Formats: sequence, structure tokens, C-alpha cells
Amino acid sequence: MKETVVIAGAGHAAGQLVVSLKQKNYDGKIVLVGDEPYLPYQRPPLSKKFLAGAMEDERLFVKPASFYDDAGIELQLETRIAAIDRGRKCLRSSDGEEIPYDKLVLALGSRARQLPVEGARLKCVHYLRSIADVHGIRADFQAGRRLVVVGAGYIGLEVAAVAQQAGLDVTVIEMADRVMSRVVSPEISDFYQIEHTNQGVKLRLSTGVSAFSGKKRVRAVATSEGDEIPADLVVIGVGILPNTEIAADAELDVDNGILVDDHCRTVDPDVYAVGDCTSHPNAIYDRRLRLESVHNAVEQAKTAAANICDQNACYSQVPWFWSDQYDLKLQIAGLSEGYDSIAIRGNPVERSISCVYLTENRLIAVDAINAPRDFVQSKQLIADRVEINQDSLSDVTVALKDLAF
Ligand code: FAD
Repeated sequence: MKETVVIAGAGHAAGQLVVSLKQKNYDGKIVLVGDEPYLPYQRPPLSKKFLAGAMEDERLFVKPASFYDDAGIELQLETRIAAIDRGRKCLRSSDGEEIPYDKLVLALGSRARQLPVEGARLKCVHYLRSIADVHGIRADFQAGRRLVVVGAGYIGLEVAAVAQQAGLDVTVIEMADRVMSRVVSPEISDFYQIEHTNQGVKLRLSTGVSAFSGKKRVRAVATSEGDEIPADLVVIGVGILPNTEIAADAELDVDNGILVDDHCRTVDPDVYAVGDCTSHPNAIYDRRLRLESVHNAVEQAKTAAANICDQNACYSQVPWFWSDQYDLKLQIAGLSEGYDSIAIRGNPVERSISCVYLTENRLIAVDAINAPRDFVQSKQLIADRVEINQDSLSDVTVALKDLAF
């Protein structure tokens, strides 16, 4: 009898997994189970073009409906998985249906972290994770309205940029003393703070939210500074939590993500996990990583598909990520945490700079803003673990690859 692969979660990684299994001529049955009403889709446009109304729903989908029909994929959408029974090798849906598997791939993604403050459930207080969330935000997204964004990470700042350009009156509140503090250097934070301020966004740094107020719909945001910011709508972007609960209940190892090896396998050889919900070993940084990026979701899905097809593939990648704000494309290669020196290349006035991060002369990360050449070269240089000659590092006319030794 033919084998059955069940993919739990129908997001970006799941969509790629199906594509990769088909490309590898996997001839077993493929069942895709997800709780959203949509085909697997890409989320990055949700805080960019799609939020701006410049992209149709269909263009978000990894593949059109006809692909799943033609490939004979069994789609079970709007189906929530409540439990994994590893002994009997089946999933149980919240309706009590059993879904048997030979191989299981957990592609459960992550969810928006909720802000535990009074009034967070008022109308017009939004989170941003799904197509449905954007439909909700867009209904309130009109020029002249007062938007308060909570959290100055990528998603919060992307929303602020789209809203500012759409004519909303935008305030961003951030607990830390600078924007994107979790991922970029103070120099890059400064650059973005100046940019948003010049565009007209009001930035409130080192400021928390103590409550949202209003009768039915939100009317104001009370801050930790003791003042109130009037608001017609709020978008909260304060991080994500990986969806690991059903894996932990099934006694798979979980520690800030479902633990997988470099084959994307869990402790159970018949259970793989891919994407945002995983914690995986990374040889370049010599530690486990849990990443929230399309690149990670796609590459882990390719690795799991290859291993399901007995191809013995290893996942070994330099992490990368991007963010679009106004006409600025930020591309981040590697992870800068733990750097001991940096160099800035380029000129902020020309809106093209990169920040190069080193540890003991070794290149560990680059944030490239409208600087695709530095981004592309750095990915390979980080993978090769090169040291960098710092003498001409700030000179943009010298290519990064020519400074490596
Ligand atoms: P997801 O795409 O989240 O898919 C997981 C799916 O599983 C979801 O549909 C979820 O509802 C479902 N699920 C969970 N639990 C269950 C259950 N028990 N039963 C059934 N179904 C379940 N990354 C970048 O690299 N660049 C960007 O610019 C970027 N921008 C982003 C902007 C936004 C607004 C968001 C939200 C994310 C962005 N990301 C970006 C991150 C990127 O989209 C994620 O890393 C990627 O979607 C991860 O894919 P995934 O398949 O692991 O998870």
C-alpha cells in the first residue's frame, strides 16, 4: 500500500513542502490539513503591498487551487488539529476526526503574541498574522484616521510606512529605546528613526502601553508615561510565539520551538517539523536557532521533502530576511547578535548603506539598505566564515568579497 504523508498546518512551509514532494516525484498520498480557510500563502505582503491594497488575494497563494487538484493533494482546510497520537500514527482534529499518517510533517508556524492589557479586545484593535487580519485592518484603514502602532519591529514599522503613505495619522509606541532593537545595530535603528520621523510618523520610544480605552471601539491608548494618545485604530506587533503545544503534548522535544536535527526530523523518525515552529541546529553560529523567515520555511520544507524521499539532505543555511519600508529595502544576511565591531558602508543621504558586523574579524552579518551587492556577497562570505580586512571596509568602492581572507 502507498505511504501517506500528512502535513499539519497549511502555511508557507507546507505549500513549499507539497511543491518539493511533487518535484521529487513522491508517489504516496499527500494530505494537507490547516485551520485557515485559505490555500497555503505567503505572509510578507500582508504588511506591505497587500495591506496597501496593491495586491489581490490570489497573488498571495504559493500555488493556485488547480495545482492541488492536478497533483491529487487532499486538502482539509478549516480543520484544527487538536492532538497527535504517535502510538497509533494519526492526528485528531478538533471535530474528533482521525487522520492517519505514515510520515507526519509539523508546519504549524507561529501566532501573534497577545498584549495582556485592559481593552485589548476592543473593536479596531488588531493583530497582523493572516489574510483575515488584513481584511479587518483594511476596513478601518482610511486617510485621516489616527492609527497607533504598538511595537517598532519589522511588522509594526512596515504597517506604519504603508499607513503614512495612505494618509493616516500614525504614532508608533515602542518599549525599547530604539526601533528594531532586537535585530539591528543602533546605527541602523537611527537611520530608520530619522526616516520615519521625516515621513511624518510620530515615534514614542521607551514607552509602554498600559491600557486601551473606549466604549465599544478603541478611542485612545494610555501609555506608561501617563498620557493618552487618541486612536481610531490600533495595530499590535509585539512578536510571535511558535505553535508547539500539540507537539509538546505528544511528548516531542520542545524548547523555544519543536526540536529538529539538521534533517528537519524530530526525535520521532516518522515526524518532521519545518518553518517558524522549529528550533534547529546551525553550524555557522554553533547554536540552535528558531527563525521567523520565509527563507527558513522554504529551505526546511525542501530538506524535509528530500528526506521523506530518502535523499539524505541536510539543512545548512545562512539565515536571511528582508523588510520593505517606503522606498527602502532592508536585506539582512546572517545574525548580528554578539558582534564586537561594526563598519558602516555608504552614505545615508544617498539612501544606500550597509552595516557590517564582525566578531574577532570574522563576518557574521550584514544589514544592507538598498545595497543588494553587499547583501548577495555577504551571504556566501558568512557561509565561508571568512575574516575581513577592516582597513577599507568603509569604502563602498571596494567590494566586500575583495576584503575577505
Ligand atoms: P505559517 O505561514 O504561519 O503557517 C502555519 C499554518 O499552520 C498557519 O496557517 C496556521 O494557522 C496553521 N496552524 C497552526 N496550528 C494549527 C493546528 N493546530 N491545526 C491546523 N492548522 C494549524 N518573513 C520574511 O522572510 N520576510 C518578510 O518580509 C516577512 N514579512 C512578514 C510579514 C508578516 C505580516 C508576517 C505575519 C510574517 C512575515 N514574515 C516575513 C515571516 C514569514 O511569513 C514566516 O516566517 C512564514 O510564514 C513561516 O511559514 P510557516 O509555514 O512556518 O508558518
